[in-house]
Amino acid sequence: MKAKRIMKAKRIMEAKSKMKIFFLGTNGWFATRTGSTPCAAISLPGRLIVLDAGDGFQRVPALMARLGISRADIFLSHLHLDHAAGLHLLPLMRRGMRVRIFVHKGYLPALKRLVAHPYTASAAEQLAKVTLHPLRTGVSRLPYTVRMLPLDHADPCFGYRFSMEGKEIAYCTDTGPCKNFGRLAKGADLLITECTLLPGGHSMPAWPHLSPEMAARLAAGAGAARLVLTHFDAKQQDGAALRTRAQAAARKTFPRAIAAKDGMVIGI
Ligand SMILES: [Zn+2]
Repeated sequence: MKAKRIMKAKRIMEAKSKMKIFFLGTNGWFATRTGSTPCAAISLPGRLIVLDAGDGFQRVPALMARLGISRADIFLSHLHLDHAAGLHLLPLMRRGMRVRIFVHKGYLPALKRLVAHPYTASAAEQLAKVTLHPLRTGVSRLPYTVRMLPLDHADPCFGYRFSMEGKEIAYCTDTGPCKNFGRLAKGADLLITECTLLPGGHSMPAWPHLSPEMAARLAAGAGAARLVLTHFDAKQQDGAALRTRAQAAARKTFPRAIAAKDGMVIGI
């Protein structure tokens, strides 16, 4: 009974907490019945912070409408298509919505080519007001603070740390272990990272990724409070059972690890 009461109180606390994180696409590489490609969203008063735009991005406009939010800031880690192809769904954004897309300044020319004909409708043609913005590595002061640092991947990929509403959230995907990962995750209230590899898996030097054990060690080393694993490789570990297995492997080192699934919502 006591455990039930605690669970209920926890659910109520989470429902009342201001900031929610919505996991809208949790597969890496390609979509399957288990999940869409990467997209997560953090709700702030009047604004949604969107982490990557895989095809889970299809759920963002409806989420904004449901939450009564008209502004979205999208942060892209890199332009591999599992993280950016969802931008062809920008026409789902309604009139009156304002969308800013942030990417490392080196990727801005490529992003401008991607959000344009012949790939999709251009930013200027959208119902919503859509603008593209270059980010430098280091700290940027928007209505919140965001720090961007390069990670370790086959093409340049960038991790983020957001300071907002008194919380620190790190988002580091598509990377092997690296120093900047530790810098971004240090003491974070929540670390969202990838889990491409199977438990016990080894990263390919040319295409670095993380196993659940590596992610857990990085989270523990950085002193993060909570860890959510996402970006599960669609080929190697599709299906709920493999995610549970990855979660169990991570929990040996980091007991507060959670394997994300599409539709999961957490409060912090
Ligand atoms: Zn990816």
